[in-house]
Amino acid sequence: MARFVLIGSGLAGGLLAAYLGRRGYEVDLYERRADPREGNIVGGRSINLAISTRGIHALEQIGIADEALRHAIPMRGRMIHDKSGALHFAPYDVDPKKCINSIGRAALNATVIEAAQRYSNVRVHFNHKCTRVDIDSALAHLQTTNRAVTAQGDAVLGVDGAFSAVRQSMQREIASFRYDESHLAHGYKELTIPPGAAGSWRMEKNTLHIWPRKSFMMIALPNPDGSFTCTLFWEFEGPRSFATTKTDDDVRRFFEEEFPDAVPLMPTLLEDFRNNPTGSLVTIRCAPWFYRDKVCLVGDAAHAVVPFYGQGMNAAFEDCVVLDECLEEFPENPARAFAEYFRRRKENTDALADLAIGNFIEMRDKTASKMFRAKKKLDHALEAALPGLYLPLYTMVTFTRIPYGTAAKRARVQDSLVYGSLFAFAVISLGMMFWFLLR
Ligand SMILES: Cc1cc2nc3c(=O)[nH]c(=O)nc-3n(C[C@H](O)[C@H](O)[C@H](O)COP(=O)(O)OP(=O)(O)OC[C@H]3O[C@@H](n4cnc5c(N)ncnc54)[C@H](O)[C@@H]3O)c2cc1C
Repeated sequence: MARFVLIGSGLAGGLLAAYLGRRGYEVDLYERRADPREGNIVGGRSINLAISTRGIHALEQIGIADEALRHAIPMRGRMIHDKSGALHFAPYDVDPKKCINSIGRAALNATVIEAAQRYSNVRVHFNHKCTRVDIDSALAHLQTTNRAVTAQGDAVLGVDGAFSAVRQSMQREIASFRYDESHLAHGYKELTIPPGAAGSWRMEKNTLHIWPRKSFMMIALPNPDGSFTCTLFWEFEGPRSFATTKTDDDVRRFFEEEFPDAVPLMPTLLEDFRNNPTGSLVTIRCAPWFYRDKVCLVGDAAHAVVPFYGQGMNAAFEDCVVLDECLEEFPENPARAFAEYFRRRKENTDALADLAIGNFIEMRDKTASKMFRAKKKLDHALEAALPGLYLPLYTMVTFTRIPYGTAAKRARVQDSLVYGSLFAFAVISLGMMFWFLLR
C-alpha cells in the first residue's frame, strides 16, 4: 500500500489522515505544533467555528459526527443588535430545524486526530515543522526542536493551512504554478463575553449575534461553558481603526459608541483588546493543487477564504471526502486521482472565495436594513411556495452539498427571474393604474 506523508494536523489534516487510514494506506502525519490535546490551543485563530451540512457530512462518512458534535450549540439564525440595543432575529431558513452549529476548534481538532489514531497504520508526529518538500521525490524536510529529519512518502499531502510550506515548495519548483494572495483591509480580534451565574448564557444562546455597523462589525458565537467568543472585524488603517485605537480610553469610547449593549457583558474587554492578536484575513487561490503523483494540497493550503460564509473548514472537510472518492475511483493511479480531485474542487472553491467576500458586505452592512430582512422573508416565502425549485443562496451553501459553483450560478438565475418578475409586475401595475386614471 502507498505511503502518504501529511503535513499539518489541523482540522483537515486530522480528518484526511482518518480517511486515508481507513483506506489502508500507511500515513505519517507531521505537525509543527505540540499535541493540541495537551492544552496547546492554536493561538490567534478562532476559538469556535460554525459547522454546517458539508462539514457534518464529512464527519458522518467516517463515523465521528456524533462524537464531534456532542458539545456543539445549534444556532438557528442571526440576532442583529442595532446601536439602540434593539434586537432583530432573522432565521437562517424557512425550516426552523435547519441550523448551523458553534463548535470549539480545539475539541474538534482533538476529535479528528483521535479518529485518525484509531487506525494502526496512521502515525502522528507533533513538534515537526516542515521546512520544504522535494517535490520530484516526495521527500519532506522537517525540523524538530533539536534536529533536522526527513520523511519519505510515495506522495506528500500539504494540509498545512493558508501559509503552507508544501505549497511554497511547489511555487518554487513548478514554473507554471499560479498563485494569488489577497488581503482584506480589515483585520480581526477575538474578545470574550464570560458566562453568567451558574454557567448561563448572558444573551440568546441559539443564535449567531451580529452587530453590523456598515464598514465593520462584531459577531459572537456561543460556547458550551456559557461564554461567547466575539470577533471584531475592523479596518487595520483609517481615522477609526485598529491603528488609531491605542489606549484603553480609545477602546472604551469606541465600544460604548458602537456596541453599547455588549459593553456591560464584557468585563475583560480592555485586557482582551490589549492582549489578543489582531489577525489578518486572506484569500488564496492557486493552481494546480497537485504535482504528478507526488504532491497534493488540501484545505486552506489550496484555497484559504475569508470567514464570512462560515465555510472554510466545511470546504476543507469536503475536500477530504472528494479526495477520498477520487482515490477510490483510481486506486492504482494517484496522479489521476489528484488531477480529478483538483478538477472537481477548483471551480467550486473559487466560487466560495467570491461568495465569502460578498457575504462580508451583507453581514456588516445589509443585515441592519429593513430591505435585507424583507428580502430574507421573500426568499423564505418562495422556498416554502416552490419546494425544491427555489432555494435561497444561503440555504444552498449552508444546508446542502450542491457544489458551491452551481449554487452561485443557480442563485444568479433565481434572482434575475424573481427580480425581473417583480419589476415586470410593478411596471404592469403602474401602467394599469395610469390607464384607469387617464381613461
Ligand atoms: C477568524 C476565523 C473564523 C473562522 N470561522 C470559520 C467558521 O465559522 N466555519 C468554517 O467552516 N471555517 C471558518 N474559518 C476557516 C477555518 O478556520 C479554516 O478554513 C480551517 O481551519 C482550514 O483547515 P486546514 O486544516 O486546512 O488548516 P488549518 O486549520 O490552518 O491547519 C493547518 C495545520 O498545519 C500546521 N502547519 C502549518 N505549517 C506547518 C508546517 N510548516 N509544518 C507542519 N505543520 C504545519 C498548523 O500548525 C495547523 O495545525 C475561520 C477562520 C478564521 C481565521
